[in-house]
Amino acid sequence: LTPVPSDIAISRAQAPKPVQQLAMEIGLLPSELEAYGRNKAKVRLSLLDRLQAEPDGNYVLVAGITPTPLGEGKSTVAIGLAQALSAHLKLNSFACLRQPSQGPTFGVKGGAAGGGYAQVIPMEEFNLHLTGDIHAITAANNLVAAAIDARMLHEATQTDKVSSFVRLGLDPSKLTWQRVVDTNDRFLRKITVGQASTEKGQARETGFDIAVASEIMAILALANGLEDMKVRLARMVVGTSHSGQPVTAEDLGVSGALAVLMKDAIKPTLMQTLEGTPVFVHAGPFANIAHGNSSVLADKLALKLVGRDGFVVTEAGFGADIGMEKFFNIKCRASGLRPSAVVLVATIRALKMHGGGPNNLSLVTGGCRSNLRKQIEIAHLFGVPVVVALNVFKTDTQAEIDQVCRLAKECGAFDAVPCHHWALGGRGSVDLARAVKEASSAPSDFQFLYSPEMPIVDKIRTIAQKVYGADDIALSPQAKEEIENYDRQGYSALPICMAKTHLSLSHMPDKKGAPTGFTLPIRTVRASIGAGFIYPLVGTMSTMPGLPTRPCFYDIDLDPVTEEITGLF
Ligand code: ADP
Repeated sequence: LTPVPSDIAISRAQAPKPVQQLAMEIGLLPSELEAYGRNKAKVRLSLLDRLQAEPDGNYVLVAGITPTPLGEGKSTVAIGLAQALSAHLKLNSFACLRQPSQGPTFGVKGGAAGGGYAQVIPMEEFNLHLTGDIHAITAANNLVAAAIDARMLHEATQTDKVSSFVRLGLDPSKLTWQRVVDTNDRFLRKITVGQASTEKGQARETGFDIAVASEIMAILALANGLEDMKVRLARMVVGTSHSGQPVTAEDLGVSGALAVLMKDAIKPTLMQTLEGTPVFVHAGPFANIAHGNSSVLADKLALKLVGRDGFVVTEAGFGADIGMEKFFNIKCRASGLRPSAVVLVATIRALKMHGGGPNNLSLVTGGCRSNLRKQIEIAHLFGVPVVVALNVFKTDTQAEIDQVCRLAKECGAFDAVPCHHWALGGRGSVDLARAVKEASSAPSDFQFLYSPEMPIVDKIRTIAQKVYGADDIALSPQAKEEIENYDRQGYSALPICMAKTHLSLSHMPDKKGAPTGFTLPIRTVRASIGAGFIYPLVGTMSTMPGLPTRPCFYDIDLDPVTEEITGLF
């Protein structure tokens, strides 16, 4: 339709097929499905055992250039591409997406179900609650927090030597575990707990992170199965004892209970696109303050389901400098999977933001020669071919579109194509689908950026210099001390998950294009031992976002008669 209606109006106008029918079409057995209502179902992991001997399909990563705060359409491109591959080129396809956090849904950016005629439906179910995985993560995370504070209280107040538990001797000044909630609630960044008289003087300062930045979310995304998830949950380090030993969830006696809370969350949720093609929604770590990729398990299941000639389109959050770098260095290391192509999403509006020049065409040119070029180069560091997907908006001119496609190829892209999926659905992305198919059969020479055995500081410096374009890094005294501690505790051979702004290749959100001549400041370095990465916080990066003056929730409402939701996008 012209003009294209609102996302929610489009979503509502299309009745999804029953999830059982979708499951049957893609080859699932009824016993492998756990329906949650009519439109979505969890898929049992026994499917992976059943399909173990099947070949994997092609694995395609969708990443992007440095975005504007509104997003440049990676989810939309991923869904449009999957629709084009399945519904128009008649190749099996699966889109694997992250579950959205309530933070952006009610904050600045809105939902993450795609948009226009490239959406996951029903979009309100996708965007809110889904099958409860984020709630399970929140419950599990906060059970650990409760276990820590209760344990410290009991150890402090029960001086009796024959008490029923082993003393952990947690040092309150060295606790690293925070509580989480899935809301942009900035006033929880720093809080004091234990102020009631019943807590007998055990008050201490702590804070909340957003749930999608939590270690348990990262574990959900990186686990290779239930056993692996249990092992990872057990080895999560919550702090250090007075004698300098790491204290784990297992030491607290809580890891079995965590596995119980997470037993359903580990199964990916099956949904569908507007054109009835299959989608897995599973895990949802942010790419700036977490590792930014959907689950290894969803990708593995999807790769088996599509078969040798099929395509799995998976998305890495924000710009390629963060979401894609972590996809390769963290997710691919954990899964053993290797993608056959990268789709790099660009928009004219973001390129203009990165460019410099007196008129629109020179702004676009500047953006291509700076940010687009750099993001293509970053993908090439990993040896994978890049197809640039120019997500076309109705305000873009033909001259601008032609210019971007020409320059993208000049900057080394395998191909560059304009995409019209937002206005036209899958048929608007057929050229992209063809280009991706071709790129996937081109020779690629995958390699990691660094070896995990390198010292932590060198790994951070490698990412800063090679990916972000920094001259060097500057570690705060606290960061230095933390790294020395991880070395002492034997955690130095882990990959790195940088927490950096997504709005610039540097740590300075207002520096657009491809900044140079800067030193990357590392404020503090956390460790997610269960997830399996070291987690440096760059500059002023916060792990709990705030709300703007006019958040998205202003527009969201419910009609009590029809139960229809309005204002979601
Ligand atoms: P990302 O995944 O990169 O964050 P999304 O795919 O979620 O971005 O898109 C961000 C927003 O922009 C969504 O609301 C989407 O509907 C809208 N959008 C995406 N592509 C287009 C387009 N070509 N024209 C108009 N709006 C678009």
